[in-house]
Amino acid sequence: MESLPRDPDTSLLDSTQAEDKDKCILSSDTFCLSPSLLEQKTLPVDEKSPKSPKNPRGRFDPYDSSEEYVGVVTLPIQVRQKAVKKGFVFNLMVVGESGLGKSTLVNSLFLTNLYMDRCIPDVSEKIAQTVSITKSTIDIVEEGVNLRLTVIDTPGFGDAINNNESWKAAVHYVDQQMEKYRRDEIGLNRKNITDNRVHCCLYFISPHGHGLKPIDVNFMKALDQKVNIVPVLAKADSLTPKETRNMKAKILTEIDKYKIKIFQVPECDTNNNDPFRQQDLELKRSIPFAVIGSNTLVERDSRRVRARVYPWGIVEVENPSHSDFVHLRNMLIRTHMQDLKHSTHHVLYENYRINCLCKNLCLQ
Ligand code: GDP
Repeated sequence: MESLPRDPDTSLLDSTQAEDKDKCILSSDTFCLSPSLLEQKTLPVDEKSPKSPKNPRGRFDPYDSSEEYVGVVTLPIQVRQKAVKKGFVFNLMVVGESGLGKSTLVNSLFLTNLYMDRCIPDVSEKIAQTVSITKSTIDIVEEGVNLRLTVIDTPGFGDAINNNESWKAAVHYVDQQMEKYRRDEIGLNRKNITDNRVHCCLYFISPHGHGLKPIDVNFMKALDQKVNIVPVLAKADSLTPKETRNMKAKILTEIDKYKIKIFQVPECDTNNNDPFRQQDLELKRSIPFAVIGSNTLVERDSRRVRARVYPWGIVEVENPSHSDFVHLRNMLIRTHMQDLKHSTHHVLYENYRINCLCKNLCLQ
């Protein structure tokens, strides 16, 4: 049996990050190389070596003994290969009152139709309904990289006449997954743990109120120590730009007032002029993301785009001047998925585990 707990970080390393690290090493590792190789490395790619273009493994062929390098430069490549082979997992919870556009947004984000078999209850059913949890899983494959995405929905949230305890089902589910992971980790087969923990919770806020409602505060307060909450302002096309700005400011003030902990995008390590840093700043400024969802494809400038068509014009989902959809998608999938998973494992799950240990000690 292995003596160390599995470190999900290595297995979770995002392929793009691995690639970035790879690029980074290529440009910064020259200090430890022999002068001849140093010279070789600074040459443009096509002038490097006559055999490079023919070599399918590129410059860092591990079996090419003629290369004068130790080989540590291939470590990110090894990590990437392992991670890609294993595949990636991401569990996303979406919460908000029904009709706020959750299913439409999820479909727009992952270019899929996750809610084909969904049946919407009528009003009498809704009154009697309690909050339930449903899960839909799909495999998304892009250029050999496989992401198993599970979307956890909470139908019935906010539908009852008394919504004081609407948050309980979600808290129960999140705790259950943490507990399952903890048990698996101390069990016999911890090499093959399936990670069902919720890595992110998109919390949908209605655009029609004046900031947060009691149900929003209750939910976020109940879950903010257990899951990474990302607040989104739903159906942003129903607000003018000024109203959107005011609503966002109000939501942030209330989040601060009620001391709700939302997911903090980590600081970018690069320098001020780096375009990534600028993108990161823009992304941070967009929170809470004012989003628009649509499953309708419209022809625009000979492109097919997701949009909402109104008598007065067309609202494009991916147009940054129409909504923050692109920022949300970038954060969730392209730039910070690993941070969300890292925070789940190293902060939220760690807190859960420590609490369990403390409880057990007290009992003893
Ligand atoms: P859910 O119950 O929260 O999953 O909401 P749905 O995704 O089923 O959407 C409910 C209704 O709102 C549908 O008629 C959608 O077409 C519409 N809708 C979804 N997203 C948006 C949006 O961004 N803006 C507007 N105006 N309507 C939307």
